[in-house]
Amino acid sequence: MAVIISIVNQKGGVAKTTTAVNIGAALGNMGKRVLIVDLDPQGNATAGLGFSGAAKRSLEKTTYDVIMGEVRPAEAIVETKFKNLSLMPSTQSLAEAEIRLIRFENKNMQLKKAILQVRDSYDVIIIDCLPSLGVLALNGLNACDRIIIPMQCEPYSLEGVAELINTVKRVKNSSNRNLQIMGIVFTMVDTKLKVNREVMSAIKSKFPPDIFFNAEIPRNVKLTEAPSHGEPIMYYDPTSKGADAYARLAKEVARKCKSMEEML
Ligand code: ADP
Ligand code: MG
Repeated sequence: MAVIISIVNQKGGVAKTTTAVNIGAALGNMGKRVLIVDLDPQGNATAGLGFSGAAKRSLEKTTYDVIMGEVRPAEAIVETKFKNLSLMPSTQSLAEAEIRLIRFENKNMQLKKAILQVRDSYDVIIIDCLPSLGVLALNGLNACDRIIIPMQCEPYSLEGVAELINTVKRVKNSSNRNLQIMGIVFTMVDTKLKVNREVMSAIKSKFPPDIFFNAEIPRNVKLTEAPSHGEPIMYYDPTSKGADAYARLAKEVARKCKSMEEML
């Protein structure tokens, strides 16, 4: 039965999608059966896994149809070119769900209800959330067991993460009792920059040390290039620093999933 992980941060551009796609690909390569759920109308995970242009237009059903309860998840899920990696794709239409779900009685639980139908078919399900804390993001927080928070070392990062952690606590106390933070991962790290180092130690001082993943993701141009080639970094450039960092992060995630599987 899959461990379900949401990649969350209400700030855009902090590497949520990069983290979802690259942890997913690395876990798939390690022999885990992985599903990535694209829960962002921007569809960046969908494009980053090769579905752009004609391939994107050929997608018949998407996360939108699933979250609206109109199709079963298995009807929307497609296989990617990458080992053990499946995708529930999304397109711009998902933005409509944010409005239409308001009328649903259990509007925050639609994704969870759907995902439970396919939980047995995978070892890990990774939900790539959109940059917001609205209805769609709440579906992401309710559907998962664990969250991973990608964080950039910037002076204002801390405020955003404090708000996010409060939201996580609210969801945990109301509708998803087993929800826990798997970890915070620093992304786009440039340790040559003094401000980066200073902000990182300021952030670290505010949290228990074991909340941080050991792996830190460096700023790496190959990670910027890979999405436009529709490939995870370990396929686009396996020798890059970015590929190495995400492989290390994926190993930590696999270890944490293993100790969770024993509880499931
Ligand atoms: P989010 O999903 O949080 O909005 P993305 O994963 O799309 O963020 O990343 C934002 C941009 O930064 C993308 O263009 C991505 O390719 C780039 N990027 C992400 N991580 C790195 C990194 N470690 N080094 C360089 N560029 C990165
Ligand atoms: Mg994204």
